[in-house]
Amino acid sequence: MSCNHYRAAISARATGTPLPATVTEQALDHHLTSCLSCGRWSKHLTTLRAATDDLLRRRRPAGAPSKPV
Ligand SMILES: [Zn+2]
Repeated sequence: MSCNHYRAAISARATGTPLPATVTEQALDHHLTSCLSCGRWSKHLTTLRAATDDLLRRRRPAGAPSKPV
């Protein structure tokens, strides 16, 4: 299977959506340990995702009223 299939799965995993039917968690993990290129890509995507989450948290107005109790 080509790296493109795995990268779709890596992307899905990073965003918390179900993996494509063609790639199992096991197959993805195995590919990540054997494919340096996808390993790097996965790390990059995870970092990017974390940075985006952080940015979204920071954009929340500090003075906004908290949820009603
Ligand atoms: Zn690969």
